[in-house]
Amino acid sequence: MARYVKDFSEGDKDQKDLLGGKGANLAEMTRLGLPVPPGFTITTEACRAYMRTGEVPPELRVEVTMAVRHLEDELGRRLGDFHEPLLVSVRSGAKFSMPGMMETVLNVGLNDASVQGLAELSGDERFAWDSYRRLVQMFGRTVLGIDPDLFADALDKAKAARGVTADVDLDAGDLRALVDTYKQIVRDESGREFPQHPREQLDLAIVAVLDSWGTDRARLYRRKERIPDDLGTAVNVCSMVFGNLGPTSGTGVAFTRDPGNGRLGDYGDYLVNAQGEDVVAGIRNTLSLADLEQVDPAAYAELRQAMRRLETHYRDLCDIEFTIERGKLWMLQTRVGKRTAPAAFRIACQLVDEHLITMDEALSRVTGAQLSQLQFPQFAADGVDRVLLTRAMPASPGAAVGMAVFDPATAEQWAAEGKDVVLVRRETNPDDLGGMIAAVGVLTARGGKTSHAAVVARGMGRTCVVGAEELVVDATARTMVTRGGRTVTEGEVIAIDGTSGEVFLGDVPVVPSPVQRYLEDGLEVALDEAPDDETRDLVLAVHRILEHADTTRRLRVHANADTAEDATRARSLGAEGIGLCRTEHMFLGERRVLVERVVLADDDDGRQEALDALLPLQRQDFTDLLAVMDGLPTTIRLIDPPLHEFLPDLTELSVRVALAAERGSVDERDVTLLAAVRRMHEANPMLGLRGVRLGLVVPGLFDLQIRAVAEAVAARLADGGHPHAEIMVPLVASVQELRLVRERATTIMAEVSAEQGVTVDLPVGCMIELPRAALTADRLATQAQFFSFGTNDLTQTTWGFSRDDVEGAFFSQYTANGVLSVSPFETIDVTGVGQLVRIAVERGRTARADLTLGVCGEHGGDPESIRFFDAVGLDYVSCSPFRVPIARLEAGRAAV
Ligand code: ADP
Ligand code: MG
Ligand code: MG
Repeated sequence: MARYVKDFSEGDKDQKDLLGGKGANLAEMTRLGLPVPPGFTITTEACRAYMRTGEVPPELRVEVTMAVRHLEDELGRRLGDFHEPLLVSVRSGAKFSMPGMMETVLNVGLNDASVQGLAELSGDERFAWDSYRRLVQMFGRTVLGIDPDLFADALDKAKAARGVTADVDLDAGDLRALVDTYKQIVRDESGREFPQHPREQLDLAIVAVLDSWGTDRARLYRRKERIPDDLGTAVNVCSMVFGNLGPTSGTGVAFTRDPGNGRLGDYGDYLVNAQGEDVVAGIRNTLSLADLEQVDPAAYAELRQAMRRLETHYRDLCDIEFTIERGKLWMLQTRVGKRTAPAAFRIACQLVDEHLITMDEALSRVTGAQLSQLQFPQFAADGVDRVLLTRAMPASPGAAVGMAVFDPATAEQWAAEGKDVVLVRRETNPDDLGGMIAAVGVLTARGGKTSHAAVVARGMGRTCVVGAEELVVDATARTMVTRGGRTVTEGEVIAIDGTSGEVFLGDVPVVPSPVQRYLEDGLEVALDEAPDDETRDLVLAVHRILEHADTTRRLRVHANADTAEDATRARSLGAEGIGLCRTEHMFLGERRVLVERVVLADDDDGRQEALDALLPLQRQDFTDLLAVMDGLPTTIRLIDPPLHEFLPDLTELSVRVALAAERGSVDERDVTLLAAVRRMHEANPMLGLRGVRLGLVVPGLFDLQIRAVAEAVAARLADGGHPHAEIMVPLVASVQELRLVRERATTIMAEVSAEQGVTVDLPVGCMIELPRAALTADRLATQAQFFSFGTNDLTQTTWGFSRDDVEGAFFSQYTANGVLSVSPFETIDVTGVGQLVRIAVERGRTARADLTLGVCGEHGGDPESIRFFDAVGLDYVSCSPFRVPIARLEAGRAAV
């Protein structure tokens, strides 16, 4: 049994780990009886062995020999034979699709002798030399690392010499001469002859594919997509079929539904008399599938049938690469296709309606990240003056406004400086990836919806417009010129609309998205206002899937909201409570001086006066909030400011006092204040006198807040409301801290109950945001009726990272060198911080079975983290109002 090599007939679609995505799907299509040219896959196991040792495993060479012989027997031709040569393609294919990342070499097996054989076999000399020049070109570029422009320039020269513009207009003689030129380029650039021996070509191409796994741009893409570096790639060796065999041949790509907007019906690009990457490269303009139907109805019908079979089989949108060789259809690749966010929602619902998938499956096919893309604004419809530069193909939706830049390096540099940039290119290739990541949008002058720019931008959710042929883009001059003669220079603001394909000059106003309209104002309003049927369809799809998520999910979703206004918004977005009401915000503005007096006062009277002034203000805040949140849990966190955020700045105040002293007009109050600020000054406020510590040290501060909450509850009860306020104590590390606060709370609630003649008995709980709190959760639970994980602080204190400092300082290096794959402040670090959460959940529940558990850090709205919180058994997540729908969706997905 072969160890490193599998024939296409041996595998299936579930073996992506071993065969890579492309290999597994080629095997699956072979199994289905679709017309796949025979071939074999070198497994990822071989790549991993190669990565380990730096050498091709000797068994692999032997197994490749066996597999090639088998292929030769099956097809009755021999690799690189003088008479009837077998030719193969050597194609990479990792588990996850990495568009344009890895290298492919076509026509392996051609040399000075077999090119004659191919001419005889096909009866087409021009074709044979066209194939040979492609081999030298691709081999030179990907295997020998020669600058592709050298080949492109030579091709341009050959065309110019002939006075033609298309490569198809070169005849056999021209192409033969071109092969000589190409071979000379290989000689000059690599210092070696183009290898004539077919097996040597094959082996070198295989190693080139293995090596391409480790290139910088492949690594960059993996980092961005969070694909592990140690998976390795498979290598597919596939017998060649030819789309460049004249007018009855061609090559194309197709989608079973429109991946841009989810429209029904097949969709694709076809190029007559072409091979391989000609279609995606946007070299010539393509035909649509409808055109193909005119040109070759039989092949088209066969393609349609294959597409239908694949959709039924995969029960999803598939994308396909195919070639027609003299009227015969060959399938070269398929996979479940990438799609834009609107397409994902619409297609999921279409498939449900076609009874191909269940609602649960539909839910698993969309993501919170996609929903969040749909929440973004779009350009205002009309009625605004704006300068349309051109209209081209919409490739990835959204509205992007930024400064035009014409090369990826500038895009990255300007973005790092905080500027919004739109990357403008003639066409993109993998070297543009860094610039595409940095840009808010991408605009190209060439290529179709399946071009590199379009595919990559869709994958990243980047707004993209392609094929703006009226624009002359000049990367050297850093300009683009419109048909009307308007020159746009680097740095000028342009706006691109990834939904309509329009490109505008200057800043264009944007309007809220219809999906956001639905989320905030309901289905009826959104459907009513939707400009067209497709928008209505999208809104309905989001509605159906979100409703299903709501019935499926176990986790409740709360919002972090501090004001009645935020709370109203959160409720309309589906929040089922408030998980975190921060009270610091209530002490800003005019109230700030009062707080300053409370904290700094050295006499009890002065302090009490300030507290008395604050009480009615706080009570009103809470009464308003509880009115909005009637009937729903509302967790109010006692004040937790790092002290420096409240006190006057030490340096500023010192300077003021010093200057006043010079003038001889010192304000006594300033002097006292300065002394107090000095006394309280901290070198490291985030680890200093804050949270419960502040509450225990400054008399009356927590009392005031607890009383304000209790009185607000009493007022609401008197008004016939159903307030469910809870009191949450921040930054607790020790059960003693919590006990002290709890005792005060009990006393105050009893006082308020007596005063108001109602029973006020509010749950008291604490944040878990210090490692010690997590580790002693069993003790804390004796005093706490609920826990809420403050994962921001917990991440800071577990890693010892200061969030405000590290992100800019060294996180970029840490992601570059692989220490971090993603910021732990964005997605919870399951291995470290997650373990503390797990421990606290277990120990807390052991001590108190009915302990309520939630999370209120940023992570509460992060899709990946929500999965973890569901698995670890929390009761709810709490996040910003905007992210509430995302959390609802992800909580639903976590449950199916
Ligand atoms: P990518 O993953 O970049 O699409 P592929 O390995 O799919 O790379 O190949 C690049 C191009 O070459 C595609 O258009 C593909 O259809 C074509 N191609 C690959 N193998 C063959 C083959 N055996 N015969 C004809 N065309 C091929
Ligand atoms: Mg492909
Ligand atoms: Mg905190």
